[in-house]
Amino acid sequence: MRIDRLLTECGLCSRKEAALAARRGDITVNGDREANVSRHIDPATDRIAFCGREVLYRRYTYVMLNKPAGYVSATEDRSLPYVTELLSPELQKRGLFPVGRLDRDTLGMMILTNNGSLAHRLLSPRRHVEKEYRFICSLPLPADAESRFASGLALSDGFVCKSALLRPDPDRMGGIVVLTEGKYHQIKRMMEAIGTRVTSLERVSFAGLALDPALARGEWRPLTEREEALLLAAAQDPAQGGAPPQGETP
Ligand code: URA
Repeated sequence: MRIDRLLTECGLCSRKEAALAARRGDITVNGDREANVSRHIDPATDRIAFCGREVLYRRYTYVMLNKPAGYVSATEDRSLPYVTELLSPELQKRGLFPVGRLDRDTLGMMILTNNGSLAHRLLSPRRHVEKEYRFICSLPLPADAESRFASGLALSDGFVCKSALLRPDPDRMGGIVVLTEGKYHQIKRMMEAIGTRVTSLERVSFAGLALDPALARGEWRPLTEREEALLLAAAQDPAQGGAPPQGETP
C-alpha cells in the first residue's frame, strides 16, 4: 500500500498534505525519513510515523458525529443535506455510512463506519443495544408514563414496543428514554401514545458510548480505542459470547 493512501485512509490528511509533510521530513518509515509518499509499505510490518506519531492502520474506520438538525441519515440525497457530507473528503472516500437512522430533526450521537457487518449486528434486535435519548415534550408526562414504558407500550398501529426506561425530569416536561430497539419515529410515537408530543429530541448515547460534549453540532471525531472496543463488544452475539470477527479488534 502507498504511504499517502495509508495516511488518507486513516483520515490523517489529504494526499497533497501527505506530500507536503514528506517534504518537510514529517513522515518516517521504520524510523527513517521518507520523502517519497508513493513508496509502497506493508501496514502489517512497517512502522510509519506522521508528524511524530505512530500511524496505526485499521481496516475499518469508526467515527462519532454530533448530528445537527436538517440532515438526513443517509450517504446521499438528491435534495436534502445528508450526514456523510459533514465528514472530511478523505473520510467520504472511505465509504462511511450511519449506523441506524435518526429523524431529520433529531440531534446528537451518531456512529458512522464502513464496517457493514458490525453495523448489521449492532442494529440486530437480538443484541438489545441501548440508545439513550433526551427529549422535551409539549404537555407533562402522565403519572403512569414510566410504568407504561416499562411494561411495553402499544402504539396507535398496534405495534407493541419492548420494555423501555423512562426517567422524567422533575417538572415532567421532558426527560430521558432508553430504547433497545429502533422503529420508525419510535419515541415520537410513544409520546403520542401517552398523550403528549416530542418538541425536541437528542440521542445522547449509543451502545454505551456517550456523545462527546466537546463536539459541536455537525462536528465529528474518530472513536478512541476504548470506544471502538466498547462498540465491538456491544456487537458480540449474546448467545455465543464469542470474540468479534477477525480484523475487527482494535
Ligand atoms: N425516535 C424518534 O422518534 N426519532 C428518532 O430520530 C429516534 C428515535
